Amino acid sequence: MATIEPSTELDKSFAGQLIRPGDDAYDTSRAVFNGMIDRKPAIIARCTGVADVRVALTFARAQGLAVAVRGGGHGVAGNAVCDDGLVIDLTAMKGIRVDPDRRIAQAQGGVTWGELDRETQAFGLAVTGGRVSTTGIAGLTLGGGSGWLERKLGLACDNLLSADVVTADGQFLVASATEHPDLLWGLRGGGGNFGIVTAFTYELHPVGPVVYGGILLHSMDRAEEVLRSYRDFMATAPDEVGGAAVFFTAPPEPFVPTHLQGQPAFGMIVTYAGSVEDGEMALRPVREFGAPEVDLVGPIPYVALQRMLDSGFPPGCRNYWKSDNLDELSDAAIAVLLEPPGSSLSLSPYTQIVFVPFGGAVARMDAQATAVGWRDAVWYFEVASAWTDPADDERQIAWTRALVDALGPWARGVPYLNTISDQGLDRVQASYGPERYARLVTLKNIYDPDNVFRLNQNIPPDLG
Ligand SMILES: Cc1cc2nc3c(=O)[nH]c(=O)nc-3n(C[C@H](O)[C@H](O)[C@H](O)COP(=O)(O)OP(=O)(O)OC[C@H]3O[C@@H](n4cnc5c(N)ncnc54)[C@H](O)[C@@H]3O)c2cc1C
Repeated sequence: MATIEPSTELDKSFAGQLIRPGDDAYDTSRAVFNGMIDRKPAIIARCTGVADVRVALTFARAQGLAVAVRGGGHGVAGNAVCDDGLVIDLTAMKGIRVDPDRRIAQAQGGVTWGELDRETQAFGLAVTGGRVSTTGIAGLTLGGGSGWLERKLGLACDNLLSADVVTADGQFLVASATEHPDLLWGLRGGGGNFGIVTAFTYELHPVGPVVYGGILLHSMDRAEEVLRSYRDFMATAPDEVGGAAVFFTAPPEPFVPTHLQGQPAFGMIVTYAGSVEDGEMALRPVREFGAPEVDLVGPIPYVALQRMLDSGFPPGCRNYWKSDNLDELSDAAIAVLLEPPGSSLSLSPYTQIVFVPFGGAVARMDAQATAVGWRDAVWYFEVASAWTDPADDERQIAWTRALVDALGPWARGVPYLNTISDQGLDRVQASYGPERYARLVTLKNIYDPDNVFRLNQNIPPDLG
């Protein structure tokens, strides 16, 4: 394992914490959400601000060290940490400022969605954000950013007005509609390929603070009928309706009937980005599909809705995720989920198969307006496999692949790069499509010709 001795240039110029192998904080600081990732950086540079980011980046480049960038640490591929390199860790950069009159929020690169939602909701405002409150705003926004409000307000990246960026050569740039607009385009979906984003400025919208939404739970024997009804309902649902259909293992929680606890089950999360009264009316049909065993739908604070799934994604589990999109959620595709391997969810109580309806504002945005390549999909799906025993790795990964293969005949082959464990140029190109990919390569040639930022879903430069 490489080490960087104390008293280097870095120690002299860095204001934040430098964490080395052997330090008490080393193991907790290199751990990420996905417990399968066990990487041992030479040094973790926990930055206090832009000055630290520039110092750490300059040092890494001078020493020829690989550079990993860490926001919330939720990337399942584990690129927030690296072996033997330098981690630019933004987790201490927690500044948030909301301007309620201009309806904008600026948040630093270490902020999580729970933290941003709390501040924006103090003013009854929000931006589309992740569905688990501990996910970082950084990685999620840079990769696109799907959340409950997206059909009404667009993806997280659609609401990104500007970004403060430290580029590979250590320059500080603001990317906005008027300054470096090409870079802003690439940051809206192109991932961490173009620089280190130290702050994000979002457009905010009136939301809540109390909205209408919650969870409905059905036994598996109702899943086929209810999912079909939900699909048909979503085909004409207003943009305010968001949500997801989830195959998972019902938890041993008091609100779950005893006979369902620990059993494969089918759930629907429903949300309404409008008034509670309108939400109650709009979501009534979904609550009536197939007589749910549990109905926890009603008025709920937006911040509570945003934390509703937290306990279902415990950090530290071993995770292997795959995702893709569908033009249509056909009866035949639904049937696949009810036979093996789909039906053998009990393989792990932490695994979830999630279907999210797109459409609305996600689809209305011009396909070339951002780098995101999947906004015209009708449904998104993700197989988020999670387990605890390393001895199960092979079996769990094989199960995940088999299920995604079984859905293959209906899938578009356009993964959402933020929710896949595997990496490779073919997936990156498939996710963006040829036109956007070519534009991203041009940007990479300009802003990171040496591919300093390569520990990501990488877009390599092509300098011909
Ligand atoms: C439990 C869970 C729930 C999720 N829910 C959603 C969801 O609802 N919607 C959704 O769209 N996605 C969701 N995701 C996927 C999520 O978008 C990605 O995992 C994303 O990478 C997380 O960002 P992060 O900052 O937490 O992760 P990190 O692992 O810290 O970052 C991921 C990558 O982003 C890049 N990066 C991070 N910070 C910066 C920065 N400041 N500047 C430049 N590059 C940077 C780096 O390449 C890094 O490797 C979820 C993931 C998990 C684990």
